[in-house]
Amino acid sequence: MSTATELIHSIPVDPLTGAISVPIYQTSTFVQEAPGVNKGYDYARSGNPTRATLEQLIAGLEKGSTGIAFSSGLAAIDAIVKLLQSGDEILAVDDIYGGAFRLFTSIYEKFGITVKYIDTTDVTNLVNAISSKTKLIWVETPTNPTLKISDIESIAKLAKAHHCLLCVDNTFASPVLQQPLALGADIVVHSATKYLGGHSDLIAGLVVTKEKELGNKIKYIQNACGAILAPFDSWLVIRGIETLHLRIKQHCATAQTVAEFLEQHPAVDKVFYPGLPTHPNHLIAKKQSKGFGGIVSFTLKTDTEEAAVKFVTQTNLFKLAESLGGIKSLVSHPANMTHKSIPAEKRRAAGVSDSLIRLSIGLEDAEDLLADLEQTFDKIRSAQTFSKAGILSAQARS
Ligand SMILES: *Cc1c(COP(=O)(O)O)cnc(C)c1O
Repeated sequence: MSTATELIHSIPVDPLTGAISVPIYQTSTFVQEAPGVNKGYDYARSGNPTRATLEQLIAGLEKGSTGIAFSSGLAAIDAIVKLLQSGDEILAVDDIYGGAFRLFTSIYEKFGITVKYIDTTDVTNLVNAISSKTKLIWVETPTNPTLKISDIESIAKLAKAHHCLLCVDNTFASPVLQQPLALGADIVVHSATKYLGGHSDLIAGLVVTKEKELGNKIKYIQNACGAILAPFDSWLVIRGIETLHLRIKQHCATAQTVAEFLEQHPAVDKVFYPGLPTHPNHLIAKKQSKGFGGIVSFTLKTDTEEAAVKFVTQTNLFKLAESLGGIKSLVSHPANMTHKSIPAEKRRAAGVSDSLIRLSIGLEDAEDLLADLEQTFDKIRSAQTFSKAGILSAQARS
């Protein structure tokens, strides 16, 4: 069976009524026949049938044993960090999601968990940094926003040899393009807010573990701490996943076109897209994933914050907003938005320069998106010409 068919039919028809859409069990508790005798559910923090359907669905998509649905991507990440103890160390990708950086440093460091940030695109850097204290390797691939790719299989081998866990944040790729558990990772995490939900209408997080035992530990943490996904939001994620294959295919095709357009544009300095042969990790991206995703970043020849801010406020179709993975194209300026919580030198060292602009390619027609980018470049060019003319006339007057 093809993956799309398998995906669509892994969402069960309701055995009770035949409803073809998954029922939303909007309930807090479940009536018991006798104390402890129930139909598999007792209290909705511990388990809910709508959420359970989503959890089985994502576990299947990621080829894992256990799926767990959280109230946000960060709640999912938080539950994974809670597997650790004081004195443990995390080795994390340097170009990490800003929210994960904030969680690791400003929340967990004070509990004695240390984090080292590593350029994980070269496994040697991890080999040099790993120690007996290392209990978790944290990789995002592709990263946000410079789309760096790390070799999941090699890192998994290193993690295994040092008895530490490898968690891959698979938000940018989605299970349609990349399945880290099959490459040896222990845990996959998603901000389902992005491609899985797919319509910019919810906040959700998902965890999938390869082993059942580890899955049970994270389930225990979730039940103890309480960051569950509500039934309606679980239903929305299921509904999003139903069209994931089609959306991802389209996002990838349009992103490739946009990346090629930007690469030849005179106002653009660098383009970051793993689907370009000029991308430094293009080959490993090609090897471990089925496509290159819907995010394209680029820097301007005029590498200043002002130039980038001018650009991101002049687009029409690309809406200026945080987040990604929805049907409408978005534009953002990471230095001022998603990456504001990362110190400027650290941010620049990770390749997020002042003029870096990130595009989340939506489902509009490619030619309309190219036209929008072109009119934006035209506007900032004429603005620059005006300001030069302004300087000249001011000089002429003096
Ligand atoms: C958005 C995002 C998160 C955080 O998820 P939320 O749902 O916003 O809590 C984590 N990792 C990556 C890569 C993200 O893009």
